[in-house]
Formats: sequence, C-alpha cells, structure tokens
Amino acid sequence: MAAMSARAVSGRLLPALLAALLALAGAVAAAPPRDEYRAQRAQLLREIGRHAEAMARDGGRPWISRRVLAALERVPRHEFVPESQRRHAYENRPLPIGYGQTISQPYIVALMTELAQPEPGDRVLEIGTGSGYQAAVLAELVGEVYSIEIVEPLARQAAQRLQRLGYANVHTTVGDGYYGWKAHAPYDAIVVTAAAPSVPPPLLEQLKPGGRMVIPVGTSFFTQTLMLVEKRADGKVRTTQLLPVRFVPLTRGEAR
Ligand code: SAH
Repeated sequence: MAAMSARAVSGRLLPALLAALLALAGAVAAAPPRDEYRAQRAQLLREIGRHAEAMARDGGRPWISRRVLAALERVPRHEFVPESQRRHAYENRPLPIGYGQTISQPYIVALMTELAQPEPGDRVLEIGTGSGYQAAVLAELVGEVYSIEIVEPLARQAAQRLQRLGYANVHTTVGDGYYGWKAHAPYDAIVVTAAAPSVPPPLLEQLKPGGRMVIPVGTSFFTQTLMLVEKRADGKVRTTQLLPVRFVPLTRGEAR
C-alpha cells in the first residue's frame, strides 16, 4: 500500500519536475551567456540600439527589432574572432579573421538580420560563412541555416566553432556561393555577406516566392550598395537600394 502511494506520488511529481526542469533549460538557453564579456556585450547592444534608432530617424533605415538585438546578445562574438582581436570583439566595427577576410560590423549584422525578417522555422541560406558569426545570429532566430564559404580553412574553423558552441542548426559547406546550395532550396531568406557585381541568378532562383535576399552589390570597394531583393508570391522581383556598405568581394570558384 505504502509502495503504491509512493508510486502514485512519483507518478504525479515526476512529470511536473521534468516540465519544470525543461522550462528552466529553455530559460537558460534563451538567456545571454554568462561569460566575462557579458557587460561589454550588453554595452555594444545598447550602442547598436541607439545607432539603429538614429539611422531609422534620420536615414530612413529600418528599425532593429528587440528580437534581433536579443539574438545578437546571445551570441558570444569574442568566440568568433582570433585571440589577438578578442579585446576588440565588442567594438562596433569589422575585425580581421585571417585570409584577408573580416567579420562584419555588428550593426550591419543586426541590420542584415532584420532585413531578412527571420521567423522561427525558416530555412535561411548564407553566402560567406567567414567566422560563422552571422550564421550563429540567424540560427538563434530561425529553423535551419545553410552557409557556404569558399576559403576552405575558414569554412573548417567556422564549422568546428559552431559545433563547439552548440549551433546544431547551422549546416556549412565549402564552395562557391554564387551557385547557392540547391539541395536545401528553396529558402525563406538569403543573406549574402560578400559583394557581388550583380545579384547571382542561381540565388534568386533558390529564393522562395515571398522570400527576401539581402546582398551587397557593387564592383569596387567604394561603390557597394546593400540591396533588399524581394521575390513576391507571384514570382515578380522588387529590388530596393538601402545604404552604401563595404564588404569583401564575392570571389568566384569553379563552376558546379
Ligand atoms: N558572414 C561572415 C563575414 C564574412 S566576410 C561572418 O559573420 O564572419 C565574407 C566571406 O565571404 C569571406 O569569408 C569570404 O571568404 C567569403 N566568400 C567570398 N566569396 C565567396 C563565394 N563565392 N562563395 C562563398 N563564400 C565566399
């Protein structure tokens, strides 16, 4: 009898306990990481928030939502830069990551993320994995992120880093992102983090009707424009020029 009632109690308590533990785990996963850079990261986020507000007011640029800012706050940018750059990790500027490439300015990452309008369950393609930082920010907000990098050692390092940090929903590959990643197409959003002379047709093809592509377009370092390319439900494409930017060029590999 006593044993039976103990079972009955544990039968009720265990699910409740498990639910409480799961809720706690969820809360922990959604909170910004508690590392020694936490205060610096929060400060950077306030700075981006203020900058975005001023840009929205005076420059007609989009507002950056709380959701996107919170995603940036959950990603430890210092883990995505070389050791020698760590003390600069929470400055609002691009930083070198080796092989002549850079991790983008956090405000630009926030802006591109906002423009992609990421929704839970979305499938997003990124061209130019670099450090993996933009992919991690997207992964905080969507279902699956597919990211292509042309520089093999960067791709390898980013894949290892993303795995170590627990970003199981980021999938990386080495290749020329000009051709997209057909196996997982179509995408709800495509974020291109290297400047192309024009919008690559294969990427447009792999964008879902109703989807958005954010891409820096321009031939020289000094004349690039961040563009929003929207594919409407009927397949028609609308392109909006947003702001002057400076990205490394989209280099071309072998045709696939
Ligand atoms: N998104 C990156 C920023 C990377 S800078 C981050 O968050 O750190 C742009 C990256 O695009 C570089 O790593 C560069 O090697 C890569 N790249 C350039 N041309 C490419 C191409 N054709 N396909 C895929 N990646 C390319």
